Parts: sequence; structure tokens; C-alpha cells
Amino acid sequence: MMKIAVLPGDGIGTEIVAEAVKVLRALDLPFETEEALVGGAAYEAHGHPLPDATLKLAQEADAVLFGAVGDWKYDKLERALRPEQAILGLRKHLELFANFRPAICYEELTHASSLKPELVAGLDILIIRELTGDIYFGQPRGRRTSPDGPFAGQPEAFDTMRYSRPEIERIAHVAFQAARKRGKKVTSVDKANVLETFQFWKDVVTEVHAQYPDVELEHMYVDNAAMQLVKAPKKFDVLFTGNMFGDILSDEAAMLTGSIGMLPSASLNARGQGLYEPSHGSAPDIAGKGVANPLATILSAAMMLRFSLNQEAAAARIEAAVKSVLAQNLRTADIYSEGTTKVGTKEMGDAVVARLKAQG
Ligand code: NAD
Repeated sequence: MMKIAVLPGDGIGTEIVAEAVKVLRALDLPFETEEALVGGAAYEAHGHPLPDATLKLAQEADAVLFGAVGDWKYDKLERALRPEQAILGLRKHLELFANFRPAICYEELTHASSLKPELVAGLDILIIRELTGDIYFGQPRGRRTSPDGPFAGQPEAFDTMRYSRPEIERIAHVAFQAARKRGKKVTSVDKANVLETFQFWKDVVTEVHAQYPDVELEHMYVDNAAMQLVKAPKKFDVLFTGNMFGDILSDEAAMLTGSIGMLPSASLNARGQGLYEPSHGSAPDIAGKGVANPLATILSAAMMLRFSLNQEAAAARIEAAVKSVLAQNLRTADIYSEGTTKVGTKEMGDAVVARLKAQG
């Protein structure tokens, strides 16, 4: 029996995860779910955003379905106790080094993008971001008195950007293998002109590429990539980069598609275990109102079936059901436009379940 750890988290997390679980149950697959607190909800109940019991459940499960964590009210807490630390902790303990974020612009939603429809119609980019290294995890880091330079003796803060060869190699293999199943093109994004870490990144990626002669490799500086994403996004197939650049570029790409409420994500380790979550946060501004778009979470559940639970057919069924619901003109508020029917979180989940049942 497959086991899914369900971690709804905070804000809209509980609302959207409930819909994804409902959709999964409609598939009649052999899996069990177990739910646990994470983020601010776990801090309130147990004094820590990632309690040991939650981490243990995630480690023992085949996959984790995650909602979102965070609320502005926790901003004053010391960093280690803030809800967002739960995600960093899960990534680290489960060794989830490969993050997949598709940015797909559905035909029905092209007008929701801030770009001209012809620039985004048919957009289908896969962003692969390294998730456990780079300046987000590099040591040493901290605050100190500046030891040298023009501001010696003044307080300063510092972080460390670093990548080791094996870290770059394993994510480069993931990127090339993913490209093989798509448009066979990888754009590796770096800042090799300024940063030693990213000159090394570029060198190692070029070496790994020798094993994938059927895949085209292009290198691009991160500032240019940010520009190209809004100028000609359809030129990208697999956009592949480090942790910090990937964080920023994947949000930029998300907006090209119209709504962040539509975008799933998967974070995988070498054993195929994964954490699946929407690309957006806990949206405290709309939490509890029943208006959040659950589709990003439902599509994350589809990615979970595909990548961690070996259920490709079921994943494709969910994706087809989502497309069909959009074709029926049902929209949550974030993707609503004149002439379509506005629905709430639960109605959207029910509509996906109804389409699944209609598939027979
Ligand atoms: P956010 O993604 O939560 O919200 C940004 C905007 O998008 C808001 O206007 C929100 O209403 C809207 N939005 C997001 N998801 C939506 C959905 N499914 N349907 C409709 N509208 C949606 O980002 P934020 O406001 O910058 O952050 C809010 C909190 O979430 C913060 O505490 C932040 O730290 C946290 N956060 C958590 C994660 C995560 O859990 N992985 C990721 C990003 C931010």
C-alpha cells in the first residue's frame, strides 16, 4: 500500500489540500494518507514548524503532499521557528535536490497573462532548480563586525555561495534526462561572468552534456534569462539553474502563465521520494474565504502520481480533467474573466472530481 503524507500547513493550505485529497480519492487507487501539522499550525501546537513526528511521517511516506506555510504574524519570530523553515527542513532532511516547476499557459487562460497572448499561447517551459545547495544553505553565514575593506569595524552580514562538483553533476543529469522526454533543449542559467561558483557550474554542466549529444545545451547569464523570459519565453524548453536564480526565475515564469494558482511543483530526491506542492504561498489575504484556486495543488497531486507513485495513467486523467474544467469555463477568482463562471475552491475541486467520474 502506498503511503502519502498530507501536510496542509497554513492559510489556504488546508483548503486547497482538501480538494487535492478529494480528487486523489476519486481515482480508487491503493494508497493511504496520514495528515500532520506543519508550519505556523505546527508552531502553535508544538512550538516548532517541523515537529519530529511530522518529519518522521514525511521520511517514511512514499510521497508528501504539501499545501503552503507562513503568515505575516510570524515575521517577528526568530528565523529557526518561522513557518518557512519547515520547507527548508523537509528539503534538507529528505535530500530533495531536484525541483521541477512547469510553467504551462493553458489555451483558455492566455488572456490572464500580463504578456501579449501571442507571446504566451502554447507556452510550456520546465524549470529545473537545484534545491539543496547554493547561497541558501552555504556555510559560513552570519553577522559580524566587518574585518576589512572600507567599512572595517562596522556591523555586516554575509552568506556563502558554493556548489560542489557532485551536486552540479546530479542535477545536470536530471535536467538533460528531462529534456530528452521533451523538446531536447537545456538552457543552463548562470552568472559565470561575475561569480566563481557559476563559472564552475558552467564548466561541470558542459562536461556532463558530453553524455547527452542528442540534447542541445545553451548557456545564458541570469540577467539575460530574466529578460528573455518576458521577451520570448517560448524559446525555452528546460530552463535549468541553481537554487537562488531558480527561486526568482520560476516566480517570473509563473506570472507569464496568468495565475500562480495554476502552477504545480515537485521536489525529488535520488530515491524517487518527493514533496509535491503548489508554487504559491499560503495567501493569508484570501485564507478562509473559500476562493483560493485549488488547481495548482490538484496538478501537484498528478505530478506525485507520475514521479513518486508510478501511476502515469492516473496522473494523465487528472490533467485531462483539469483541462476539461477550464474548457467548461469554470474559473476561481484569480483566473476569472468576463463570460466565464466564477466558482469557489470547493466547487472547483468538485468539478474536477465530476470530470474524472465522467471519464469512466
Ligand atoms: P502568496 O503566493 O501566498 O500570495 C501572492 C498573491 O497570490 C496573493 O495575492 C494571493 O492571494 C495570491 N494567490 C496565491 N495562491 C493563490 C491561489 N491558489 N488562488 C488564488 N490566489 C492565490 O505569496 P505571499 O503573499 O508573498 O506570501 C504569503 C505567505 O506565504 C508568506 O508567509 C510567505 O512566506 C509564504 N510563502 C510560502 C510558500 C510555501 O509554503 N511554499 C511559498 C511562498 C510564500
